[in-house]
Amino acid sequence: MDLDELLNNDSFTKEEIIFLLSLKKEEEINKLFQRADEVRQKYCGNEVHLRGIIEISNYCEQNCIYCGLRFDNHFIKRYRMSPDEIVKTAKTITNEGIFTVVLQSGEDSYFDSEIISYIIYQIKQNTDVAITLSLGERNFDEYKKWKIAGADRYLLKHETANPRLYEAYHFKQELSERLEHLEFLKSLGYQIGSGNLIGLPMQTIEDIADDILLCQKFDLDMAAFGPFIPSPHTPYHKKKGADVLLTLKTMAVARLVLKNVHIPSTTALATLDKNGRKKGLQCGANVVMPDFTPFPYREHFQIYANRKCMLDDPKVCSSCLQFQIESIGRKISKSKGDSLKQNAIL
Ligand code: SAM
Ligand code: SF4
Repeated sequence: MDLDELLNNDSFTKEEIIFLLSLKKEEEINKLFQRADEVRQKYCGNEVHLRGIIEISNYCEQNCIYCGLRFDNHFIKRYRMSPDEIVKTAKTITNEGIFTVVLQSGEDSYFDSEIISYIIYQIKQNTDVAITLSLGERNFDEYKKWKIAGADRYLLKHETANPRLYEAYHFKQELSERLEHLEFLKSLGYQIGSGNLIGLPMQTIEDIADDILLCQKFDLDMAAFGPFIPSPHTPYHKKKGADVLLTLKTMAVARLVLKNVHIPSTTALATLDKNGRKKGLQCGANVVMPDFTPFPYREHFQIYANRKCMLDDPKVCSSCLQFQIESIGRKISKSKGDSLKQNAIL
C-alpha cells in the first residue's frame, strides 16, 4: 500500500487500518501522527476540552478481570462520597472554569436512581454544566431517570469488540448486552462515549482494528483508547502492560477513521509515559480528563498501580495540565465541549 496516498483517504477498510496500526518504521509512524494531528485540527480545532472527574465510589459489583476495583479484590479500602461532598466537588470544578463534570464509579447500586438524580439536579441548579455519567452497566429505567434529571452524556467502554475475549475478561457478561446498553443510551438522547483497552492479554492488532470500526458503527460522540496497566490483586497482575507506541498509533488511526469525535489523552497513557499526555494530544486527541476526587478518597480509586497524579492536589494537577497544553501551542476550551456531530441532541 502507498502510505502517503492511504493517509489522505476519506474512508478505511479493516485491512488498511491493520496496515496503519502495524507500521514499524519511525519515519512512517511520524507521518501517521502528523496526519492525525492535521485531521484533529480540521475537525476539532486548536482547543482542548477539559472534563473534571469525580470518582464517587469505588465499590463494584462486577468482576472485570483486569480492574483493581473488581468485586473479588479485598485488598482495597472501599469508599463512597456523600451527595453533598460530590456537589461541593462539582462546584470546585466549575470554579476552575471547567464545564463538564464526570461522575465515575464502580457498578454500585447503592447510588440508585434517586440519589444520582438528586446529585445531577443539585450540580445543574445554578450552573450551565454538562454532566457525564460513567457508572457502568445499570438498568434501563435508571438511565431514563438520570436523563430526565439532566444528565447529558454516558461513558461506557465496550473494552473489546471481540465477543470471545469479552467473555474471557468479564464474569458472566456478554458483549451483545454491553452493545444493547449503548444503543439504548443513544436512543434516550445521551451523547455516548465508548472505546477499548489496548494491550490486554490475547488481543491482536485485528481486534484493535475491529474496536475502531465498532466506534465508527456506533457513530460515537467520544471514543477512548486507553492502555491496559496490570493491577495488583487481580488475575492479570503479572501480565505485560500495553505498549505506549501501539496506544498512540491506535489513537492516531482512530482520528483518521472517526474524524469528528472527541478523543481523550488518558491518565493511563500519562502513567506509562511521563510525556504521554502531550504525546496523545499530538496524535489525534483533543480532550483531557483531570481528576478532582478529593482526599482521602482519590488514592483508593486504584484501577491499576501507580496512577499518575494520584497523590497530588487536584488544583495543582489542573494548573500543571494547563501548562502542558499551552506548551504545545494548544488552548483550553471554555465551552462545555458538546458533541461534534451535527445530529447530536444538545
Ligand atoms: N465501572 C465503570 C465502567 O466499567 O464503565 C466506570 C469505572 S471503570 C474503572 C473505567 C474504565 O477503567 C473502564 O472502562 C476500563 O477500560 C478502565 N480500566 C479498568 N482496569 C484497567 C486497567 N487495569 N488498566 C487500564 N484501564 C483500566
Ligand atoms: Fe467495576 Fe468498572 Fe472496574 Fe469493571 S471496569 S470492575 S465495572 S469499576
